[in-house]
Parts: sequence; structure tokens; C-alpha cells
Amino acid sequence: MNILPEMPRVLALANQKGGVGKTTTAINLGTALAAIGEKVLVIDLDPQGNASTGLGIEHRDRGLSTYEILSGDCAMDEAIRETAVQRLWVAPSTMDLLGLELEIASTSDRAFRLRNAIENLTHSRLFKEIGFTYVLVDCPPSLNLLTINALSASHSILVPLQCEFFALEGLSQLLSTVEQVKSALNPELSIHGIVLTMYDSRNNLSSQVVADVRETMGEAVYDTIIPRNVRISEAPSYGKPALLYDLKCAGSQAYLRLASEIIQRERQLRSVAA
Ligand code: ADP
Ligand code: MG
Repeated sequence: MNILPEMPRVLALANQKGGVGKTTTAINLGTALAAIGEKVLVIDLDPQGNASTGLGIEHRDRGLSTYEILSGDCAMDEAIRETAVQRLWVAPSTMDLLGLELEIASTSDRAFRLRNAIENLTHSRLFKEIGFTYVLVDCPPSLNLLTINALSASHSILVPLQCEFFALEGLSQLLSTVEQVKSALNPELSIHGIVLTMYDSRNNLSSQVVADVRETMGEAVYDTIIPRNVRISEAPSYGKPALLYDLKCAGSQAYLRLASEIIQRERQLRSVAA
């Protein structure tokens, strides 16, 4: 009997603003989920490739990347790399991704390249060996075709918001893009949650922002708040997730809490669906 492999949960980390913590969350939430037993694949969809660097894949030995995957030159399983973290893999990106949008713009499956690649991955030998349970897609800081590919391939979107004055700015545009993708490309897409990042307890503004965002977005906001923490910003220069660089620091501990919160929400979503 042929048993279909169970689909991993696919979560897109998206916000068209740069510097809000998407990549940091992809790396550290990925590591935290792996630390509590999940089998995680991080897909780097940002031409900057910071998630790949932060997971220890240096630019010079990147080999096959998400560019080749999305342009149809290789299958996802050929590009996936191990990381120093047990149960965590990455599909790295390169600057080549910058040209992809133009290359695929006039093809009919342009919005489904990633979705098809993940679907094919689930039929691969690698998938049968590993059995990924979570896929985190690190999006570029733009609502371009790459982000649209991520949203049409995902079950849910996870939005990092930086605790700063203009935190909510741009959120309505992002949410309306989610609605558009939902009605035109991916009816399954839901909002998993909003994670507040770079919270500074010494700064009154940070707590004001938390209060505002909670009031506006209600239950969508995770209980866990990621503090501003120097260890988190240092870790990528060592090619390591913060959880490997300094497990005890406040930032790593917050990402572990976020991972358990996400798993809990997943359980609730599944029990509602069942
Ligand atoms: P994005 O992917 O949304 O552009 P990044 O994750 O790259 O954002 O974060 C932007 C910058 O802020 C990076 O230099 C990163 O190291 C830093 N940063 C992110 N989260 C934290 C944090 N919790 N504490 C300190 N620095 C952080
Ligand atoms: Mg980024």
C-alpha cells in the first residue's frame, strides 16, 4: 500500500518592511523547533541570503539554491543542506534570486513555483528519510513575486513586528495581500500569528507599542515577546543560531517559548480542522 507522506506545516515569515526580525526568527525559531524534536526545513527566499549565512552556509559554497529550485533547474531535495543544528536543514539562497522574478514573470505557474517544489519534495527519498514536520520560509522585505510564492505555498503566515514607533505601518497592506492570495491563489492561507521583536524593557515606547499592537490585533499576537538582545545580533557573524551561540541568553529562551506557543497553536488549529 502506498501511504502518502504527511505534509509538513509550511509557515511563511513575511513583512515587507526590512529589519523587523524575519530572518532572525527563521533561524532561531527553526532551531528552537528542532531543539524540541521537530524536523525543520528553512527555505531562504531572500536574495540577501542572511538566513543561509546565519545557519553556517557560506556564500562561496552555496551550490544549488532556491534560485535553481524556483527556475526549475533542480529539485528542492537536491539543494537542501544540513546545518550544525540537529534536525534542522536549509535550502540556501544566492543573489541569483534577484533575477528570478523577471525570468518567470510571464509563465503561467509563476506564483506556484515554490508550492510545486514543496509538493515534489514530499515525494522525494530525502523526505521519506527525514519527514520534515515544519517548513519556515524566510521572505524578502517586499511584497514581490517571491513573497507571493511563499504565501501561496504556505498554510499560514507568521508576521514579525519590531517594537518601534511605526510598527503597525504597512501591516494593513500586508494583510490585504494575504486576503488577495487567499482568494486568488491559496484558500488555505491563514494568519498564524504576530510576533513582537526587539522589545526593549528600558524603553517606554516598546511597552506602548506592545499595548497598541495587542489592542489592534488582539489574539493574533503571540504571548511571547522577543527581547532586544545583543547575543541574538552577534550570533550570525559566527554562522550560528543564537541558541547554539548562547542558549541561556534571554533571546534564545524567548525563541524556545515562541516555539512551544506555535506548536500549541498548531494543535488547536488541527483539532478545530479535525
Ligand atoms: P529582516 O529579516 O526582517 O530584515 P533581521 O532578522 O535581519 O530582519 O533583523 C534585522 C537586524 O536586527 C539584524 O542585524 C539582526 O541581527 C537584528 N536583530 C533582530 N532581532 C534582534 C533581537 N531580538 N535583538 C537584537 N538584535 C536583533
Ligand atoms: Mg531578512
